[in-house]
Amino acid sequence: MTREMTRERLYLFDTTLRDGAQTNGVDFTLADKLVIARLLDELGIDYVEAGYPGANPIDTALFAERRPLHAKMTAFGMTRRPGRSASNDPGLVTLLDAQADAICFVAKSWDYHVRVALETTEEENLASIRDSVRAAKAKGREVLLDCEHFFDGYKAKPAYALACAKAAYDEGARWVVLCDTNGGTLPHEVERIVGEICARIPGAHVGIHAHNDTEQAVANSFAAVRAGARQIQGTLNGLGERCGNANLVSIIPTLKLKKEYADRFETGVSDDALTKITRVSRKLEEVLNRAPNRYAPYVGDSAFATKAGIHASAIMKELNSGLTEAESYEHVRPVTIGNRRKVLVSDQAGKANILAELDRIRLAVDKDDPRLTRLLDVVKEREAIGYAYETADASFELLARRTLGSVPKFFDVSYFDVKVEQRGQNGGAEVLTTAVVKVKIGNEMLINAAEGNGPVNALDVALRKDLGKYQKYIENLKLTDYRVRILDGGTGAVTRVLIESADETGDHWTTIGVSPNIIDASFQALMDSIIYKLVKSGAEA
Ligand SMILES: [Zn+2]
Repeated sequence: MTREMTRERLYLFDTTLRDGAQTNGVDFTLADKLVIARLLDELGIDYVEAGYPGANPIDTALFAERRPLHAKMTAFGMTRRPGRSASNDPGLVTLLDAQADAICFVAKSWDYHVRVALETTEEENLASIRDSVRAAKAKGREVLLDCEHFFDGYKAKPAYALACAKAAYDEGARWVVLCDTNGGTLPHEVERIVGEICARIPGAHVGIHAHNDTEQAVANSFAAVRAGARQIQGTLNGLGERCGNANLVSIIPTLKLKKEYADRFETGVSDDALTKITRVSRKLEEVLNRAPNRYAPYVGDSAFATKAGIHASAIMKELNSGLTEAESYEHVRPVTIGNRRKVLVSDQAGKANILAELDRIRLAVDKDDPRLTRLLDVVKEREAIGYAYETADASFELLARRTLGSVPKFFDVSYFDVKVEQRGQNGGAEVLTTAVVKVKIGNEMLINAAEGNGPVNALDVALRKDLGKYQKYIENLKLTDYRVRILDGGTGAVTRVLIESADETGDHWTTIGVSPNIIDASFQALMDSIIYKLVKSGAEA
């Protein structure tokens, strides 16, 4: 209780849908934006900056109606143009009419940019800030001012950069946000400059917006908090222009789990919401149709992975000796962020790794069971010919369950045929791919044919077109990544295919196939993915 009372409130502002939408190759639809806004809301983010009304049809439509969220729905836009009145600037009028709880204005705070980019006077820029803040407040909106290029501006002319921030604060803006727009400022500079600003504007009204161009956006955000700032702006998975914005998916667990911050600050993210952050991070990648970064801190697949046999056996010893967590090898408990410990099964691993992995998938087996030795032998044999079970967790689980005798025989593929043909001639030629698959389920024979975008896709579509009584389990199964590697070049080359799949619950898993033939390797990985999904869903043979 005393902790609650003495902790200061720190506010989280997400701009995945605005600054994050500037990322190369990212194009959110309106539906995507609404899905992501809801994820952010579930997480307990205070502000969701959802777009720039008037800048494009999607953002205009987004702000045309109220979107009920706990978070403050924030619209982004520019302060009034130099030489115009607030009511005479159509961009500002559109922004003021947007259905938003808060408005985040962006304004220049570097005298050089005021002269060269804005082609106006320093005084007119200050007047534009004051007028815009006043107009938004008159509309009943909470107001934030993003001071663009603040740190470079402050280094060039401190009094003017400060005057821009002060103008907004004195006019009643809830927040002035110091932006490291080109991402080049270093943590010790951020800490010094934010400290100087917080001596003149209360830190409870100061925010930080850091970009990741020296890979220190997260460190810069914490430097600003140490110096007094009480709002952090960032994006999910560090999405953003160039090298991205400060990654809230890394910042939030640090705020919640590291004593220095957890003891001093409170955020809108509950302990329960924190356990969803791994899923939220992966869900964003799914919306973007990208493979999740397995090396991401806290939430990556490898964040709590151990390969060396000696570590794995030490972790098992800690767990068996009554310690509930493998404290000496993990800086935080994976379960607190919804991630999991992963003990990698590999050719250098011993029985301890296998046992740990079986424990995770809740396959009870005695450590002296001879089937365990057989499983270890099979893993070693298969890894020698190119399988990599440390990556393909779902294929490992199937192999283990089969060796221990618990995978039902759901169906048989008795035949498949893939045909690739070229029609037409020369430059105008069209390549068509078709696949036919015969599937036997009990006494029933199903024949599926499909066209596809290449042989693997055709095979996948045909295989999953009709699986009879199992169809309902695989309806929401999606392939999210497909990777091919050729092992040992030359005539003896072998192809390794890794397929990543996901389903409606947000789970994702990886399966593997190895063969001299790429279609065969892909087929193995596809089959494993489907069978894994059936096992996971509790389908009965
Ligand atoms: Zn930015």
